[in-house]
Amino acid sequence: MQPKLHGIVILLLTLCVSDTAWAQKTAAGKNEAKHYFPPERLSVMPVIFTPKGESVPKKDLDAVILRHLKWTQRRYGELLGTTFEIEDKVQRVGGKKTLPQYRKREGDAVLDFAAECLDHFKYNRFNCPHVFLMVIVNPKDDWPLGVGCALNGGYNTGPGALMMSTDVFTKLPNTQSTLEHEIGHSFGLPHVDVYGIDLNGNSRSLMSYNRQHWTKGFEPAVSPATMIPEDIRGLALNDRALPNLEFSESNDVPKDYKLFWTPIPLNRCKLDGQPDYAIDVRTNAGAAFDSKVENCVVGHFRPSPGPEVFYDAGSMWHSEAVSSTVTLDLKFPFPVELTKIRLYSGHSEKYHPVKSFACSVPSPNGTPNTLARHEMKSFNGEVTFTATESQDWHLALTPGESKTVVIRGLRFYSGITEIFPPQLCLVE
Ligand SMILES: [Zn+2]
Repeated sequence: MQPKLHGIVILLLTLCVSDTAWAQKTAAGKNEAKHYFPPERLSVMPVIFTPKGESVPKKDLDAVILRHLKWTQRRYGELLGTTFEIEDKVQRVGGKKTLPQYRKREGDAVLDFAAECLDHFKYNRFNCPHVFLMVIVNPKDDWPLGVGCALNGGYNTGPGALMMSTDVFTKLPNTQSTLEHEIGHSFGLPHVDVYGIDLNGNSRSLMSYNRQHWTKGFEPAVSPATMIPEDIRGLALNDRALPNLEFSESNDVPKDYKLFWTPIPLNRCKLDGQPDYAIDVRTNAGAAFDSKVENCVVGHFRPSPGPEVFYDAGSMWHSEAVSSTVTLDLKFPFPVELTKIRLYSGHSEKYHPVKSFACSVPSPNGTPNTLARHEMKSFNGEVTFTATESQDWHLALTPGESKTVVIRGLRFYSGITEIFPPQLCLVE
């Protein structure tokens, strides 16, 4: 029998479409943060979610949920030396659908509950400052199984959500161990099997299915779950949830321990009524060596410092050769105001750098309005310009002698705020 813990891996393949009505509907006032600015900090908000037609549970449940959440908060503190914030009032949300309707979606129901919570609390997937701990009222059985996810995927992209049934809090023993695990997912942690560790084996990680970690009510497990260095490294990337957590190989990795070469982020989710967390990108220069141009935006941005050759088709984009300029046409899901675009080019600090790049937006009369041009002094560089709002952005990149460019990532800023932060950001 499988332990009742499920991660979520939903691959987002659909290209985003323009939805200006959505943007207008949720736009904040001119002097406030834009509706697509990520939150500076995240806190875990407990929510009792009652599907249509079910009766709202008694207040006693609130205290049980809070006691468990505070225990998880304390436990993370013991393991990390710092912990996450919580909202210490349990909120109540009434669902728009019935339990059988949500249930048809099985594990993906977490996304429907999360989408309704975003609406209820008047946030969107970009600006929500919470991880929703959603306790789903179900008087009949223990559905849903625990599921947690980072709504925009990755490690530092904003809100998260996890769902657990009322039974997990009132009837089943392993409430706390499930909560510790699902909160890990909601902050971006994957299961340990992505590092080649047996998920059902005797891993000490709270991101495994090791049954020895199971708690019993408010009693700790005989052998409580801890965190492996990969867990700490991943959590340290989430500056919104754990701003004071730093990971250091010398302090956090035992001498004889072989740390997996890279953090692995979770994938993005599709949310009902919300634009995708994606930027559409097109080029005139194809894609070589199994790479994809989509890797340039909202992807996995890694350094490639040399001298060893490090080319990674899964995270970089390698253009075909062009006769003159490489172009990138970006379309955000709605107009965004930018003041800076940062570009990471080349691999192994040697091959296929961008020599210069220019940024423009379309103007009302159809001619492009060039905002800035930058001569690259190294493999990475940026253009800055006066605040400009547009849904479409055009980059013209000048390659070097190879007539080919490699892009490891593009980052977008509005003032000091980075918008659409990538799934994984290991570059400065
Ligand atoms: Zn899981």
